[in-house]
This record gives sequence, structure tokens and C-alpha cells, in this order.
Amino acid sequence: MAEGTVMVTQHRYNINWLNAMFLLGIPIIAAVAAFWHRATFGIGSTEVIVLVVWYLFCGMSITAGYHRLFSHRSYSASRPVVLFYSLFGAGAFQNSIIEWCSDHRNHHKFTDLDNDPYNATRGFFWSHMGWVIMQKEGNDNDFSNVRDLQADPILAWQHRHIFLIGFIVGMVLPGAIGFAIGGIGTGIGCFIWGGLLRTVFVHHGTFLINSAAHIWGTQPYMTTNTSKDSALLSLFTFGEGYHNFHHAFQADYRNGYKWYHWDLSKWLISGLGLIGLTSNLKRTPKASIEVAKLDVKYANESKNILRINDKLDMSNFDDRVGSYRNSLRDSFRKLAGAKKERKSSSFNKSKQIFARQLTELRREIKAIKEEISALFSDMRIAATTV
Ligand SMILES: [Zn+2]
Ligand SMILES: [Zn+2]
Repeated sequence: MAEGTVMVTQHRYNINWLNAMFLLGIPIIAAVAAFWHRATFGIGSTEVIVLVVWYLFCGMSITAGYHRLFSHRSYSASRPVVLFYSLFGAGAFQNSIIEWCSDHRNHHKFTDLDNDPYNATRGFFWSHMGWVIMQKEGNDNDFSNVRDLQADPILAWQHRHIFLIGFIVGMVLPGAIGFAIGGIGTGIGCFIWGGLLRTVFVHHGTFLINSAAHIWGTQPYMTTNTSKDSALLSLFTFGEGYHNFHHAFQADYRNGYKWYHWDLSKWLISGLGLIGLTSNLKRTPKASIEVAKLDVKYANESKNILRINDKLDMSNFDDRVGSYRNSLRDSFRKLAGAKKERKSSSFNKSKQIFARQLTELRREIKAIKEEISALFSDMRIAATTV
């Protein structure tokens, strides 16, 4: 076995020394440099502003760009937006769009399996950053799952010059802006805070989605893989913490689908849509989301009551949930249809008629949800009644 070669599961892995030194070295260099700079020059507001701006630009180029636009094609973006994501995404030092998306598409295709590059079943460290440091032997990426991205000249250019673009946009530019504003001390400060430290923050934000968001949280939409929803994680990952929803509905441009879900990326994407820079934003129909939630809840409840009484005949409950599932789907579809009609109609229907129709449908949905709650209490009663 060659030096630096390690066996993980049945595969041979080599340590990627460049990645290892980068991931482990930059935090140490950044921390020492930050202390030295503070003692020598002091920190001003320019450093803080450049840090925040670069954190937002580079971070969201990964979440709204690399992830939701390029990996999942969940919306369309104009060329200036594609160029912006390519420049500032390179500054996040997470490799090229083509490379990142190839890994990510494999993550969705083989979630929790051997071919998932950041397979969470191998533990926190592996899915967090271990997979970046270790490289599977003889596993050179043929990029067969990202041919659509390779055909885009901006993305092909970014892939060819990824490190140079990253270095200029992610390190030199914040430093140069700081220098222009406040001279040498501010220039060095902005390089350290907006370049080095910001790279560490964005790295670990992304890494946490592959690790923590597959370990801690809830599973309201699917239970067939380890993905979890975490509102807490979404706070500092631009909305990516709603990861169970994302795995269930990966074509959706939102990860937090409710209006109050903290998802900065979805607000950026829809905000850019208002000024014509993004379009074709894909949303999962509410009917599909509600049905998925019902199915997960019913499966969990069934498991719980069968644990109490494994002789229980479930056929009656199965029939009831089947009929509620259909009614729920129909009512949500009718509600979506009525809302669409209200938006597109001119004056053929009065406002009051639409309002009455929507109120009626909402009442119908409320009644179905009450019947579903009654079903769950009947299940619990049946399990404890001999
Ligand atoms: Zn994804
Ligand atoms: Zn995932």
C-alpha cells in the first residue's frame, strides 16, 4: 500500500494533500493572521462590511447558484447572474461548478449509499470534510452526469481557470477594495477577514449541510434516507437547513417552502425574478407536499401502534388514510386552480365569488384534516384496547 493510502469500507483511498492542507491550514493561518492584524492595525468597519458582503456573495453563489440553479435546474437565470455565481462561487473555494454539481447529483442519486460522495452513514467527519480530503482510488470523474453544464461556455471557462478566478475574486479583490478605502492596514484586514476567514465560514456552512443536516433534525416529508429539516441550520446556511424537504422535492427552488421559513436563497432567487434576472421558478404543488406529509405521519403512527399491539388489523386504517389522501390531494388541487384562475381572470367573475370559493375550499381542507386527526386518535385507542 502506498504511503498515504487508507482503506475505507471496501475501497482504497488516497489522501489529497492539497485539499487537506487547504482545509486544515487556512483556519489556522486565518486565526493567527486575524490576531496579528488586530494587534498591529486594529479592525475598522470596512473589514466587517467586506466580510459580510463576501460571505453573502460567495455563500449564496454556492446555495442559490451551484446548488439550486446548476445542480438542480430549479429555475432559469440570465447570463449576468450565471457569471456572478461563477465568479463568486469560485471565490468560495469549493471547486468548479461542473465538479461540485457532478458530486451533488451523485449525492441525490445514491443518497447514503457507497456512490454518494458525502455518504452520511459513514459518520459526521466523513460527510463533513473527510470526503474532500480522501480521494477514491481510480475514481476519476468522467462528468457524464453534468454534460448540460459542460456545454455552457461560462461554466466551461470557470472550470478551466477555477483556482485563478477563485484567488482573484475570493482573496485579491477584498484586499484590493480594503486597500483602496483605507490603505495598507485595511487592505490586509480585508484580505484576512473577507478572504481567509470568510472562506472558512462558507466552507463549514456548506459542509454542515452534508453532515449535520443528515444527522440532526426532523423528517416530515420522507424517511427513506437520512436527510433532515433543521430551522436552526437554515439561519446561517442561507436556507439550506430544510434539507429533508429538499431531498423530497429537489426540483423546487425553495428549501424552506413556507413564507416564514428562513431561506435567504429563495428570497434572492424570487427577488431577482422581480427585476427579470431569474425566471421559470419551479414550485412543488401544495397537494404533493401535503400528501407526502400525511404518508410520513401515517407510516410513523402505524409503526408506533404496531409496537404496542402487533396483532392489530390495519386494513380499516389503510382504507381510511387512502381515501383522506385522495380528498386532500383533490381539495388542494382545486384550491391551487381557483387561486390561479383568480390571478388570471379579468372581470368575468366578481371578487366576492372568488373569495367565497376559496373560503369554501379552505373549509373543506380543514374538515379533511380534522378527520385525519380523528383517524390518528382512533389508531391509538385501537392499539391500547384489547
Ligand atoms: Zn441538492
Ligand atoms: Zn443531502
